[in-house]
Amino acid sequence: AAPLLSVQDLTMTFPGRRSVTGRRGAPVRAVDGVSFDLAAGRTLGLVGESGCGKSTTGRMLVRLLEPTSGRVAFEGKDISRLSPSAMRPLRKHIQMVFQDPHSSLNPRQTVARIISDPLLVQGWSAGDARRRAAELMELVGLIPEHIDRYPHEFSGGQAQRIGIARALSTSPRLIVADEPVSALDVSVQAQIVNLMERLRAELGLAYVFIAHDLSVVKRVSDRVAVMYLGRIVEIGDKKSLYENPQHPYTRALLSAVPLPDPAAERRRERIVLLGDPPSPAAPPPGCTFHPRCPKAQQICRTDRPLLRPAASREVACHFPGD
Ligand code: SF4
Ligand code: MG
Repeated sequence: AAPLLSVQDLTMTFPGRRSVTGRRGAPVRAVDGVSFDLAAGRTLGLVGESGCGKSTTGRMLVRLLEPTSGRVAFEGKDISRLSPSAMRPLRKHIQMVFQDPHSSLNPRQTVARIISDPLLVQGWSAGDARRRAAELMELVGLIPEHIDRYPHEFSGGQAQRIGIARALSTSPRLIVADEPVSALDVSVQAQIVNLMERLRAELGLAYVFIAHDLSVVKRVSDRVAVMYLGRIVEIGDKKSLYENPQHPYTRALLSAVPLPDPAAERRRERIVLLGDPPSPAAPPPGCTFHPRCPKAQQICRTDRPLLRPAASREVACHFPGD
């Protein structure tokens, strides 16, 4: 059977910005040849620093953005170029949860209206949609009696629960969650991650769970893909990736994840990356990570490493491992 989601060679190129003199800069390849499969009921964690193309990837997966090239197949059907009307019957299967719950909820709509909206689009009656919205509030840990309140009457964590209820309303099989806890207080983050994990198990959902650090996705992911400057640089099973990272960038990201044991935390080496990621408008030649990589050799400055099998996963590095 076809995987739930199959992504092949997904690329997004944005036109260069116009400068004050009216000249257009070079086109920006925000996403460059991203491929992966996701099985029903599973979670892929998609991790990288801001600007690495993970949100753009997420928006192409749910067909909010049309890719420049490549393919997004949902249950074997290519959805990457469907018009909004052709996408409508599929929309109920594929939903999105956004980063900032308050700015992604319409402040002038009640919770009833916000959660019902995807159902009304699918042709539900107002009464049925409202009843379903109340059930969903209960499912995500909100009080159904608060159904006629407005988003500003809820905390950030509660607002994200509303966003999750809205995404769940049509009983989707896939949810793309774009940094769903990044805007929340640390104390609330684990509650939302735990809620999403429970819902995944109960409802048989699949997630693409986007985050900028590896600690957030550890609990929910079956597999993890690490992105750098528009490309996946390492992808594999969670366990092996966390225990034995192969790409120097993955190693650096992992060394920033706090360890629960304070003694282990003191002993462990931290890999501090120099500088910020380069601009995707002017990617370095060869391995785009080489200006920041502690292991870079001459070949890294000239030859681009392709994703290839290493230690039971795929890694794009000339010198994977230790
Ligand atoms: Fe570092 Fe070279 Fe590997 Fe790139 S290819 S990550 S520069 S060792
Ligand atoms: Mg983002």
